[in-house]
Amino acid sequence: MKRLKIKEVLAGGQTGQQVLVKGWVRTKRGSKNVNFIALNDGSTINNLQIVADVEKFGENFLKDINTSTSLAVTGDLVESQGSGQSVELNATEIKIYGKADPEKYPIQPKKHSLEFLRENAHLRFRTATFSAIFRIRHAMAFAIHNYFNSKGFVYLHTPIITGSDAEGAGQMFRVSTLPAVDPPMTEEGEIDHAQDFFGRPTNLTVSGQLEGELGATALGEIYTFGPTFRAENSNTTRHLAEFWMIEPEMAFYELKDNMDLAEEFLKYLIKYALDNCMDDLKFLSNRLQQEEKNKPADQRSMELIEKLEFVLANDFVRCTYTEAIDILTNSKPYKKGKFQFPVEWGVDLQSEHERYLVEKHFKKPVILTDYPKDIKAFYMKQNEDGKTVAAMDVLFPQIGEIIGGSEREADYDKLVSRMNEMDVPVEEMWWYLDTRRYGSVPHAGFGLGFERFILFVTGMGNIRDVIAFPRTPKNAEF
Ligand code: ATP
Ligand code: MN
Repeated sequence: MKRLKIKEVLAGGQTGQQVLVKGWVRTKRGSKNVNFIALNDGSTINNLQIVADVEKFGENFLKDINTSTSLAVTGDLVESQGSGQSVELNATEIKIYGKADPEKYPIQPKKHSLEFLRENAHLRFRTATFSAIFRIRHAMAFAIHNYFNSKGFVYLHTPIITGSDAEGAGQMFRVSTLPAVDPPMTEEGEIDHAQDFFGRPTNLTVSGQLEGELGATALGEIYTFGPTFRAENSNTTRHLAEFWMIEPEMAFYELKDNMDLAEEFLKYLIKYALDNCMDDLKFLSNRLQQEEKNKPADQRSMELIEKLEFVLANDFVRCTYTEAIDILTNSKPYKKGKFQFPVEWGVDLQSEHERYLVEKHFKKPVILTDYPKDIKAFYMKQNEDGKTVAAMDVLFPQIGEIIGGSEREADYDKLVSRMNEMDVPVEEMWWYLDTRRYGSVPHAGFGLGFERFILFVTGMGNIRDVIAFPRTPKNAEF
């Protein structure tokens, strides 16, 4: 008999027939005559109730069936007598694949803290919460490819090992095959990278943008979707050392086109989640409400599905950095000295400022534009005022910055003079500058942090809980 997925079985089309399902036990309840086994195979948040007759299978056999025991069950699919499910499976044959000792199996059917589950990240997929998160993460990855494919963007695989530091920020992981102890040295007393694998210093990429620009200025519109690495020692709920980024880059786009694309893209993904992941979203909404039930009403988050619908229904606010500084310096928390970090024209906005603008002032997602050039990267298009660049950050409630992007400087001379001002090695970047030497065009792009977006869609609070095996300072287990 062909095995069916539980998702399919629960849809009810096979009622009255024999079916075969396979999965892991979530819970088992017993009475004298029957055992009720909740079986899950990862295809859906919902379990299939297996009804096992004690006399038929024997107490001895059934006692080996515990949480996380893996089973193959054949039976008659019938309409359920009990409440809570529409169909159930009257087992005629049960095969145990692997037992799970209830004295040792760490994930028992009770409430575990997210911290505990993080320490057991190898098993946390077996919980309802994490299975929901990872199905949604998958759906969003799929939707991202769908979106760009339907718009004619080319998926470009930019390198993971690079010789360039895109941001000039320096927070990179070195890649080297030289011995860690006594590496070969140059006469000047520096590590001799000429003898290294690539014959030069190399790093894990912090962004695929620069290579993305090379693709966009020939293919028209490209996007990357890959892992990104930052050795920043920021132990926050929004930073990972290894995260996934989506970076579209478009020829002939100006800043406004870039903003329009970012907004349409985010809304497409949210709509896709609402259309395709409702069972999982409802579960996560419930989880969030449980988690926050002891908080004062004004500190609770908006209900998850309502929040997603709210973002879909409203235009994002577009506001310049300069306007934002005005709003912030006129705000109550500023006047009462409640902000931890300073606010004045020229400073980089901190998460507390971004969240004030989004959650308290505008109460909508916000796209902030035209930042001071000194807090942004060298490749951003310089505005006429000589002080700002055509940058844009998309700010979301609870998250703060979810997207960073800009129109790029297309003028060769302006770009080179900015690189010199910012000590970016002009000669080493000859290949990048060739895009401005030969057929330069206006172009723009942005980076969406995939995990930040998944945080928003799932309502989870910590970025470590939306990636399978988080890499953070002092942590690379699994
Ligand atoms: P932040 O100020 O929040 O650290 P950033 O300015 O360093 O962000 P960008 O360099 O513009 O971010 O990167 C583009 C996007 O990648 C960000 O908008 C964010 O969504 C995501 N991102 C950046 N750093 C991280 C990180 N360490 N972990 C997860 N996502 C990140
Ligand atoms: Mn950062």
